[in-house]
Formats: sequence, structure tokens, C-alpha cells
Amino acid sequence: MKKIARLWEKLDNNKVQCHVCANECTINEDKVGICRTRKNIDGELYTLIYGSMISQGSLDPIEKKPLYNFWPGHTAYSIASIGCSFRCLHCQNWSISQAIPDDDGKEGSYDFEDYKNRRMSLVEMNPKELTKKVVKSGAKTLAYTYNEPLIWHEWIIDTSKLLQKEGIKTILVTNGFSTPQATEELIEAGIDAANIDIKGITDEFYKKVCGVNSVKPVLDTAKRFKSNGIHVEITNLIIPDLNDSEKDIKKLCTWVMNNLGEGTPLHFSAYHPDYKMPSRERTPLKTLDNAYKIAKEVGLFFPYIGNARHHKGGNTYCPNCGEILIERQGYRFSKVQITEDKECGNCSYNIGELITGEINKKPSHRFNFF
Ligand code: SF4
Ligand code: SF4
Repeated sequence: MKKIARLWEKLDNNKVQCHVCANECTINEDKVGICRTRKNIDGELYTLIYGSMISQGSLDPIEKKPLYNFWPGHTAYSIASIGCSFRCLHCQNWSISQAIPDDDGKEGSYDFEDYKNRRMSLVEMNPKELTKKVVKSGAKTLAYTYNEPLIWHEWIIDTSKLLQKEGIKTILVTNGFSTPQATEELIEAGIDAANIDIKGITDEFYKKVCGVNSVKPVLDTAKRFKSNGIHVEITNLIIPDLNDSEKDIKKLCTWVMNNLGEGTPLHFSAYHPDYKMPSRERTPLKTLDNAYKIAKEVGLFFPYIGNARHHKGGNTYCPNCGEILIERQGYRFSKVQITEDKECGNCSYNIGELITGEINKKPSHRFNFF
């Protein structure tokens, strides 16, 4: 639904400037910003997607986000809207991320030649209705995911405060392309965790593949979240010939190590050709294995591998003795060797906050759309 936006300023000639993401669009009257979800109406900026969702939500394993060291084994009530601040050539969720909302956020249209005449209905809720549904579902966490949540700023601010009162933890699965002001507002609203996609460690990659100029805002968001006590995990999708050089992977691992710390999980994810297919090849297992080894050599405790079978890449290992703490088969646990007090079952090393929240040792994941 349409709602007056936060974080914008009036400019001359009825233009406005939005400060919700690092695109910082200047928007003429009757036009929308790059994300296509914020519109200048009579010289004022509105979000068109407040409380507009692609469905009422789904129940996902938290590991699917991916978050492996935050409330492991729990369920994340997952919600999404449409739109994105990026135009990634490989986007797996392009049908929603590149969709365009109508002016009251009740429907979206597809931005893809073959789908031009199709419309998608959006489900509208207010923050209280959402909170009630999440509580009723029994999920202990809620994830803003699938499309880019940073452009859903107002909805996240309003809903996360209510969810927090019910003891629900909130998670952003995000491209991290935020502004300092927007990041501060999210921190104040009490966001608990974020998986931030560092898509590549160079500006060139962001220009060529994502349609924005720089990786810097992403790195800054990760640092701000982390230094304010938000649980941060990083994802890096490795695309053949675009961001798969040893040099880039080492640079990324070193940046994570030096700026976020050795205990920050880093998920290397396998690419498969999708949308505009910037590469025709899938990521070879050898590349992922090499990235895993580089992350360990640099000193990171928790490298992971997603979207591919790797003998170690799904497991959490004790940083002290190297024994398995949580062994995963897909999103399920096949072995858990960590005590209620978060001590390693082998060497008694206290993992402490390296794993945040309760561990649900017997996840009974329900994959549900409703
Ligand atoms: S959220 Fe980002 S992309 Fe959307 S209008 Fe604001 S600055 Fe532009
Ligand atoms: S940031 Fe994520 S949702 Fe947005 S276009 Fe890129 S891959 Fe898709």
C-alpha cells in the first residue's frame, strides 16, 4: 500500500531525493526511483509497497537464508515484496525483484518481455496482522528475504518493533546497499541478524553484474551492523570468470577477517545460470573447495558452502579442536555435538556468542507456503 516514505528531502522543481539506499535517487515528479517502489507524488516521496507482500509468508529453515550460526535449526517465517535496488544479471528471484508495483501496491507487473501481460496480486497486511500470524505460526524468527528488504524500510521499521515485543528475532537477507542513515534506523529498530551478500570484492564486479557503482556501501553496512551487535553472516555467490579468481576470494576473506572478525560465517554459494546468465557455466566444486580452503587459511572459523554438495561445507566445526559441532545433510542435522551451554562435546571449548541463540537439536522443518 502507499505510504509516505522516510529518509528523503525536497529539492528544487518538485524533485525529491531518497536516502534509503546508496543509489540516493533524485526523482522527478510522477516518477519512481531505481527500485521502482518509491514514487514522487506532488513533490513528496511515497513507498508503494508498505505491507504489500508476494504471499502471506512461508516457513523456511533458517539455514535456507543462509544463517548457520544464528538460532540453528529454527524456522524463519519468511516474507517478501517486489522490487530491488540492483539489476543483477544472475538474479534467481528476478520475477519479483524486477517487478513493478502499481500505485497502491496491490498488484505487480513483470519486467520481462515474455511476461509483459501478466500481473501478480500482492497480499496486504498491517504490522499487527503480520505479528499475529508470526506468533501463531510458532516461528521464533522472521526473515525479510527473497527480494531486497532495504527498499522495504518503513515496513521493516514498523514491524520489527512489534515482533520484538513478542520475542521474535528479525533477520534481513540483503544486498547491504544501504546509506548510513538507513542503517542507523534499522539498528535502532532492533534488527537481530543479517545475511549480507558481498557479491564481489571489486567495484568492477558491481558495475558489470549488479548495475551499481561500488561495493563500498555494502562493506560499510556490514561493518556498522557488526559493530552494533547485530549477528552478521556473509554470502558470496561465486560466478565462473566473473568473481572466481583466487585473488578476489582471498581479498574477500581477508576483508571479512580484518573487519568483521574470525567468527563471522562466510557462505560461498554455487552459481547456476539464471535470468540473463552472465556465465553459462555452473561453479565447479573445485572452485568452491578452493574458496573454502582459502577462508580457513586466512583464519576464518566458519566457511560454508551452499547450493552444492561438499564434504565439509555444510558443517559447523569447533574453532578450538576442529571436531564437528553440527553436521548437516541439506537443512537437516545428522549430528549435534554441542552442549546446552554451547560447549564443544569433544574439547569443552565454549563457543559463546559465535553461535547466537538457542540450538534446536531436532529441527522438524516444515516447508510451507500459506
Ligand atoms: S530505495 Fe534506493 S533505489 Fe529506491 S528510490 Fe530510494 S535510493 Fe532509489
Ligand atoms: S540484489 Fe538480490 S534480489 Fe536484487 S537483483 Fe541482485 S540478486 Fe536479485
